[in-house]
Amino acid sequence: MFDNLSTKLDQAFKTLKGQGRITEINVANTVKEIRKALLDADVNYNIAKSITNEIKDEALGKDVLIAVKPGELFIKIVYDKLVSLMGGELAEFTPTGSPAVVLISGLQGSGKTTFSAKLANRLKAQGKQALLVACDIYRPAAIDQLHTLGEQIGVDVFSERENKDAISIAQKGIQYAKANGKSIVIIDTAGRLAVDEQMMQEISAVKQAVQPSETLFVVDSMTGQDAVNTAKTFNERLDFDGVVLTKLDGDTRGGAALSIKTVVNKPIKFISTGEKPDTLDVFHPDRMAKRILG
Ligand code: GDP
Repeated sequence: MFDNLSTKLDQAFKTLKGQGRITEINVANTVKEIRKALLDADVNYNIAKSITNEIKDEALGKDVLIAVKPGELFIKIVYDKLVSLMGGELAEFTPTGSPAVVLISGLQGSGKTTFSAKLANRLKAQGKQALLVACDIYRPAAIDQLHTLGEQIGVDVFSERENKDAISIAQKGIQYAKANGKSIVIIDTAGRLAVDEQMMQEISAVKQAVQPSETLFVVDSMTGQDAVNTAKTFNERLDFDGVVLTKLDGDTRGGAALSIKTVVNKPIKFISTGEKPDTLDVFHPDRMAKRILG
């Protein structure tokens, strides 16, 4: 595991063997390598710095140097830290209410609509009656997209193309769900290409009106530092319950997961790894820690 980084760290320790305990000076080189690995994985600089400082404190005084492979032992300390920072355990997703309402937020292009359908597909597989509600009042194409996805997975989609009031569509969607025996309603909202006051007001108002059991924030893992800033702004306005990281099927090492969790302190609940309906998984902190360390 982590052969590359491990070899580098062994190298950093090589000339220092025999000193028994790890000292402040030899930790410095090691910490530098670890910080570099975190930055390479797209972890925010300040976060990488604060993590490595904590690791440094933890490693000082430990018998890392007398280990056969000190690099590996050091990495174990880093790995455990990352897992714990990303929540340690699997996050819960158990929306309640009749019907249970799940509100999906995020920027345009983040993968909201795709995720909404994937979630509906997953709930359907669990034997739940899901309804998708198309609340994007600006882009008719987004409504079409949700209908197409709904048809693909065999889940009903509620929309009102002439209605330009997102709250009213959401409320009518919930009424429709009640009248048609649906146990869970997934509301796909409008997104913009950048954070925008009108979008924030609109989604806050929808949240206020429908009182969702879960509000999820969807973010493209490939957007690096921007992902953290967007998460922060959405959380300040929406106080969301969890994060969905999308497009993890690409090359990205997933540092955004660590940064977002550290900055907004909300659990990452799902990861999306493709365009097909079944490419959705719950978030595993241990797997992501491995991915970040490479
Ligand atoms: P929205 O504007 O937030 O609703 O975003 P969409 O759901 O329309 O997704 C934007 C684009 O990203 C579409 O072309 C999707 O097929 C694609 N997409 C969404 N999620 C993923 C993913 O996890 N992996 C990949 N590779 N593409 C994705």
